[in-house]
Formats: sequence, structure tokens, C-alpha cells
Amino acid sequence: MRTSAGFCSNSGRNRRFDNVSDLKKDPLVMWQHRHIHLLAVLVSFGLPTLLGALWDGWIGALGGFLIGGVAKVVVIQHGTFLINSACHTFGRQPYSTRCSARDSFFMALFTFGEGYHNYHHEFQHDYRNGVKPWEWDPTKWLIWSFSKIGLTSSLRRARADLVSLSEANVRKTVTSEQVISKAGKTPNERHLAHKITQESSLTAG
Ligand SMILES: [Zn+2]
Repeated sequence: MRTSAGFCSNSGRNRRFDNVSDLKKDPLVMWQHRHIHLLAVLVSFGLPTLLGALWDGWIGALGGFLIGGVAKVVVIQHGTFLINSACHTFGRQPYSTRCSARDSFFMALFTFGEGYHNYHHEFQHDYRNGVKPWEWDPTKWLIWSFSKIGLTSSLRRARADLVSLSEANVRKTVTSEQVISKAGKTPNERHLAHKITQESSLTAG
């Protein structure tokens, strides 16, 4: 999948890699980097065509190429780029309102879990996106499973108390805004609303 994505997105030849010196020392990563375009074509189109041919001759090869190759790349590319468009448009903002990123189960279905994008923007170092047990995040499950067989390591998670604090802060901000907007627009009413929210935040600690 990563190779398929690289087929379209890694075309810039003059990228700087001075911030990934650890990856530059890994011979497997550098071999993939040198042959990314050939690998992308072989894995994205060659492999499904070959498997189709083995299954059902030339008709199977054509089906493998069109469905397992072309259609798969179209769906995956659209799913990937939904993250920068739809995941900043649809859903809730439970962790932060500082940027437009949003959490949405519906978007998570199409983006392999990245639809919990509000969390990702607030806690970017965390390997997870959907942190609640019921949230659909197959990428998180894959990375975690890989850690059990040594393919990934040192998985980083945000501290649970900081996550809860972010959620509480957003709830408090939203409640304050609701009180102010309900209180009306004249100066006296706004002053009263501010006093109410200040008192409620003091009592909430
Ligand atoms: Zn984003």
C-alpha cells in the first residue's frame, strides 16, 4: 500500500532528507527508495495481473490489472487524499478547536482510521488516530500487531491524562461560547454571561 501511494506522491526528486538520518542508514529502506517507481508499478499493477493470469488465463490477467490494479490505485489514492479535504470538513472536534481537523467514524472507514483526524493533529507523535476502544482504526491495529513480531518498535502514545485534559478544555470552551451566545448581544448581557462562565469555570476547578 505504501508503495502504491508512493507511485503517485513521491515524484519530487529534489527532496531533502537531512531530518531522517536513521532511515538513511537502513539498507532496506534505501533500496526501496532507490527503486520506488519500479516497485510501485510491479506491486500495484504487475502483481495483480500475474495473480489473475495464474487464476484464469488472459481474462483473469485483464481483471487483475483493471480491478486489482487500476481500480485499487484509484480508490486508495482518493481515500488517502480525503484526509486533507473531507477530514478537515466533516465530523466533531473533541480534542482541539485550534485547526479545522475533525474526528469522524464515517471518514475513518475510507481512510483506514485516519478519519479521527482531530486527535492526530493534537497528538501528532501518537501512532494511533482512534484512541477509544470502539473507534475504527485498522492502521493502529496493524502497527501494534507488527510490534509484536518485531517489525515496529518504540510505539509512542500520548499520555492519557493529557488526552482527557484536552477533551475537558474543549467541552469548557464550547459551553462558555454557548452561554455567551444564549445571553444575547447587548453590553450588559455580555458582561453577565462572562461573569457566569467565569464563576462556572472557578467552581469546575
Ligand atoms: Zn490534517
